[in-house]
Amino acid sequence: MMHRLFVSPVALQERLVVISDEAFHHLSVLRLRVGDEVLLLDGSGHLARVILRQLSRSTAQAEVLERWEEGEALLPLRLIQGLPKGEKFEWLLEKGVELGISAFTPVLTARSQLRGEKTARWQRIIQEAARQSRRPLLPVLEELQPLAAALTATTETLRLMLWEEGSIPLNSALPPQAPASCVLLVGPEGGFAAAEADLAMTAGFIPVSLGKRILRTETAGMAVAAVLQNRYGDFGTSSSGKDQVRC
Ligand code: SAH
Repeated sequence: MMHRLFVSPVALQERLVVISDEAFHHLSVLRLRVGDEVLLLDGSGHLARVILRQLSRSTAQAEVLERWEEGEALLPLRLIQGLPKGEKFEWLLEKGVELGISAFTPVLTARSQLRGEKTARWQRIIQEAARQSRRPLLPVLEELQPLAAALTATTETLRLMLWEEGSIPLNSALPPQAPASCVLLVGPEGGFAAAEADLAMTAGFIPVSLGKRILRTETAGMAVAAVLQNRYGDFGTSSSGKDQVRC
């Protein structure tokens, strides 16, 4: 298994790719040497198999041997998540990437306690999880915003609000055919205020119940992401079935 590293799209365009910053740090940790091959990804579907030609103190140069593109995400899936406590959100980002979520929108709600936005740290967690789970596309992290703003900006065709007071069981809310795109809305530890649930329904979200058990905020979205991957996404495909375009 070849090591995978994310580099910037601009860097990957060159025949001799310069590897610096975090990707270089990774190279060092892995103790890779001149002559070793690695897989470079730009996070938007471009990949290159490269051979290391030169290593210096803070950068490496690698020559491209082969390039190709890979797609993914049979189901574009976004999670709008009421921001929970720090560690929980970080756990959720990692697991969400593994489960094929393509975008995360952290939101502030009536019952969120105000907590800081840690964009750089969150991006790193997403990137590391994408590397580890071999995703060619880097999931998007949107900026922390008020719930109302996120609801207004929603464009997905299937919109599900996980709400313990919802009356529609998950299965009844899922159409027989795969939707073009899907968004999940999950509350923070304290759940949604009634007015927020109303607002979401006005914005076209179906209030879905997962039954009598109350799941922790970081569990609820992950459970439903798995269900959606099974029904519409790539849990049903073989891991060797590659949809690659050589170029
Ligand atoms: N307000 C509740 C629990 C909130 S759980 C209380 O404190 O008793 C946090 C979030 O997880 C909820 O906002 C909801 O989005 C989701 N969730 C947890 N259990 C759920 C269930 N049984 N059905 C639907 N959503 C659930």
